[in-house]
Amino acid sequence: MSPVNSLIVNIYNTLTRRLEEIVPMKRGRIRLFVCGPTVFNFIHLGNARTFVLFDSLAKYLTASGYEVFYLQNITDIDDKTLKVAAQTGVPWQDVSSRFFEEYLRDMKALGVDSVNVYAKATLYMDEIRSQIRRLMNRGYAYETQDGVYFHVEKFRDMGELSGQKLDKVVPGSRVVPSEQKINPVDFVLWKKHKAGEPSWDSPWGPGRPGWHIEDTAITESFFGSMYDIHGGGKDLVFPHHEAEIGQMRAISGKKHLARYWIHGGYLNMGADKMSKSAGNFIMLREALKKYTRQQIRFFLLNANYASDLLYTEELFKASCEALDRIQHAYDMALENVDRRESNTLSTGYYLSRIKGHLDNNFDTRSVFATLLEMSSEIFRTGGRLQGDSASGAIETFQYVDNILGILAQGSAASDTGRIIEGILRLREEFRRRKDFSTSDMIRRILEDSGVRIEDDASGTKWKIG
Ligand code: AMP
Repeated sequence: MSPVNSLIVNIYNTLTRRLEEIVPMKRGRIRLFVCGPTVFNFIHLGNARTFVLFDSLAKYLTASGYEVFYLQNITDIDDKTLKVAAQTGVPWQDVSSRFFEEYLRDMKALGVDSVNVYAKATLYMDEIRSQIRRLMNRGYAYETQDGVYFHVEKFRDMGELSGQKLDKVVPGSRVVPSEQKINPVDFVLWKKHKAGEPSWDSPWGPGRPGWHIEDTAITESFFGSMYDIHGGGKDLVFPHHEAEIGQMRAISGKKHLARYWIHGGYLNMGADKMSKSAGNFIMLREALKKYTRQQIRFFLLNANYASDLLYTEELFKASCEALDRIQHAYDMALENVDRRESNTLSTGYYLSRIKGHLDNNFDTRSVFATLLEMSSEIFRTGGRLQGDSASGAIETFQYVDNILGILAQGSAASDTGRIIEGILRLREEFRRRKDFSTSDMIRRILEDSGVRIEDDASGTKWKIG
């Protein structure tokens, strides 16, 4: 059954350059596509920023009542894969299948588990050929000696997403220079076979697909010619996403391929965007050896998602300290959930503010600021939360955690708390039976372990240290 009370989610749409309410094409269902990695190496923290953003966004949409189908492509054949294969002597298929597995391992370690399907480009050759054939039939593509190209001039709105003009295309990465192109900015749909490269059959001879066509072929086979949200890092806006729009519009006649286009900002290191080719990067795998997944997610989400974020070790440490405060307040709330003391903390207030921040262009930075404010209030009460307030605070922490994945569950403090509570209930039982020597012994054992106990009219309170 489709939900009737889906929340209003406003997000910045790169296409319209406005904050817009998400209205799905099919009631209650959101189809999300995000450009996945080229699997020729381990991913770095910059890639992780984009994948954590869309994992969190998918979870937020789910928490808001939508049924989300999240599709991601995997570029498993590319010049970069072939270069690694040539350099290492490892067959290209082994390079891409190994790094696809490593990518999945990284995503699992990072708590990214919202993707429904990872679609490898090489498994969609029929769909790719079919799209190129239709582009040729409609006069949007032409064949040369070295490939098949998209005739960009035929697509007059090219540049609508990015606001960039065609003459801004810089020949270089992923723009194939070719003498035979009608216009230098025309992009490749099919690369004809070169010696030593893998190839697939096609009406234009053996070869392999260009980069842009794999995404539209994959999304068309899952979603048809239009879907709800397309995401990726902002480096993909131009020309990659423009090319996707051009290809699909030429095929289907529908305007924009996706209704909402969402782009994440860069993770920078030094003066530049973190990138493998520039050599300024930290592998996610390495970061996970030093930091927990929660610390990494908190750092990556503690910024406006569309702005650039600078990585330095100092900034990362400061971010870990802020997270420690939130974790500590969460543990304290867990420890105090069964207590019966008076308290004025109003968690409904914090939860509704947090939901407001998420509805307002997925403002995770303000969510964390609000959690820190709530944590300070929990500390001010000395952790002496009571019944409803503690469970309300826990509900707020857990609402955020289910979406953003920043809290350690069952951490030492909360496990300890539950064990101490259990022992205190046992002590209570001995006291009820007037077996004071056993109840005192339990008290002594706890105190020897650093747990201070205070009995008063409202019950037993305890504190570590
Ligand atoms: P790639 O494997 O280069 O296609 O990148 C995979 C995803 O990571 C794409 O959505 C890129 O936009 C994104 N990405 C790459 N570098 C960064 C960075 N430094 N910061 C944020 N996202 C990035």
